[in-house]
Amino acid sequence: MPKRIGILGGMSPESTAQYYEYITHTYTERFGDYSYPEIIIYSVSFQPYVDWPKEDRWDLVAKGLSEAAQRLEAAGVDFIIIATNTMHLVIEQIQASVKIPMLSLLDAVSDAILARGMKTVGLLGTKFTMEKTFYQEALSRRDITVLVPDAGDREYVNKVIYSELVAGQIRDPSRAGFVNVIKKLKARGAEGVILGCTEIPLLVTEEDAGMPLFDTTTIHAEAALNYALK
Ligand code: GLU
Repeated sequence: MPKRIGILGGMSPESTAQYYEYITHTYTERFGDYSYPEIIIYSVSFQPYVDWPKEDRWDLVAKGLSEAAQRLEAAGVDFIIIATNTMHLVIEQIQASVKIPMLSLLDAVSDAILARGMKTVGLLGTKFTMEKTFYQEALSRRDITVLVPDAGDREYVNKVIYSELVAGQIRDPSRAGFVNVIKKLKARGAEGVILGCTEIPLLVTEEDAGMPLFDTTTIHAEAALNYALK
C-alpha cells in the first residue's frame, strides 16, 4: 500500500489543485492504472495566512498550521507536505507539533538543482520567501548560492503573486514582466531560476524564459509521489 499523503494547502487553492492533479495524473501515466496514493487535503482559509505574515506574526502562522497538521495526522495520513514555499519558514515548528514526517519542499528543490549540476540560481517568490533568510540558508547548506531580484523587482513579483496569481488570474503583461526579472537574474550569473512560489508556474514556463526554471510545485509533488510509493 502506498503511504497516505497529507497536503497542507489552500495557500492558495490554485496551486493546491496542481499538486492533487500532478500526483494522480502522473501515477496513472507512469503505471497505467488508478492505484495512486490516498490523499487528504487540508485547505486552510487563506486570508489570515496573507495577513499574519504582513504583520510579522509568524507565531500565529506556526500555531495555525501546526493545528492543521495535527488534524491531518489525526485523520490518518502517513506524512505531510506544505503546498507553499513561503510557509516553509515555519516548517520546523510544524514538524515539532506532529509525530509523522514532513517532506520539505526546500530539500526537494535542492535535490533538483544539484541533479542539474547547478551552483548558482535565482529565486522568485513572495517578499517573505525572497527577503527572509530561510530559503537561502537551506540551499546554502547544500552549497547552492541563491540570488534574489533587486528591491523594485521583489515588490513587483510579490504584488503580482498576491493580486493576480493566487486568484487564478494569468495575464500576459505579468508574464512579460516576470521574464524580464528572470533575464536580469541570468545576467547576474544565475544558471537557472527557482519559481519559488507554487503559483508562478501557472504564469511562466521555461519556453517563455529561455532558460532552466525550477517549478517548485511539480518538483515537490513529484517528491511526494515517490515518497508515498517507496
Ligand atoms: N503559494 C505561495 C508560495 O508558494 C504563496 C502564498 C502563500 O503561501 O502566502 O509561497
